[in-house]
Amino acid sequence: MDIELDFLSPVHQIKTKLFDERGLTVFIKRDDLIHPIISGNKWRKLKYILKQARDEEKTRLVTFGGAYSNHLLATAAAAAKFGFKSTGIVRGEQVNNDTLFLCRLHGMNLLFTDRESYRDKPALFRKFFKNDPGAFFIDEGGASPLGARGCSELIGELPETYDHILCASGTGTTAAGIINGITAQHLQTQFHAVPVFKNGEFIKNEIDKLLITPADYHLHTAYDFGGYGKADDQLIEFVKQFVANTGILIEPVYTGKMLFALYDLAAKNHFTPGSRILAIHSGGIWGLLGMKERF
Ligand SMILES: *Cc1c(COP(=O)(O)O)cnc(C)c1O
Repeated sequence: MDIELDFLSPVHQIKTKLFDERGLTVFIKRDDLIHPIISGNKWRKLKYILKQARDEEKTRLVTFGGAYSNHLLATAAAAAKFGFKSTGIVRGEQVNNDTLFLCRLHGMNLLFTDRESYRDKPALFRKFFKNDPGAFFIDEGGASPLGARGCSELIGELPETYDHILCASGTGTTAAGIINGITAQHLQTQFHAVPVFKNGEFIKNEIDKLLITPADYHLHTAYDFGGYGKADDQLIEFVKQFVANTGILIEPVYTGKMLFALYDLAAKNHFTPGSRILAIHSGGIWGLLGMKERF
């Protein structure tokens, strides 16, 4: 079976009074709809990694993540779909939650490891799989040049050009891929990364390492809400209102922060009237299951 998903994510317009008043036309690329589980940027990042595993005749995908990792879940489902076995090495003591339940349902074997050993992933891989020539190492979050290559394809799918594109950033792989796509097509589009980690300036290094040609882009570091997985009442309220007003499901870990940034920057007149703006919905809505008690 070809390593391909046949669904092209659509672009939808978001209409609100705020965008009208500021003269902005805002769209959202629905990468959350690519696949119910292998959603968003996790599919784009995995695509060429899986093709490489297939080319090397590997049989088991081995990857890493926290107990609520979208990447673990996407890898479990992609392995099931494309005929690989899978192992997830999970940071921290043994737990069970909705994400890990879905991983196991897709046949993923879970190994829990303490936070200290978790730091050295190649060592963990050697420890568990040194006698398994079919095992294939995939770094946490799919961070790699192959991951960026898959993400760059998003630009080729767009029906028109935009003045600005915004995306949430964790490892920076998705951002780098999109910037590479913009450069390759010689577009004038300005790219905006919204880091979801605290002190997100470090992401610039990670993005720059994966750029094929150096490029300028914007980094909005004021929207981490205290760090990864953190959210205050204002962000939770924003997510609730957004979902209730648009029917588009988002979560507060990634896309919620990026859209909050978009609304805030628009309100502060950051974009010139007449601008056409594209926000990337990078998926990950299963992450909501870990935050039910916040809503
Ligand atoms: C993992 C993830 C990101 C971060 O992507 P990076 O390539 O690591 O920057 C963004 N959005 C969602 C929904 C994710 O699951």
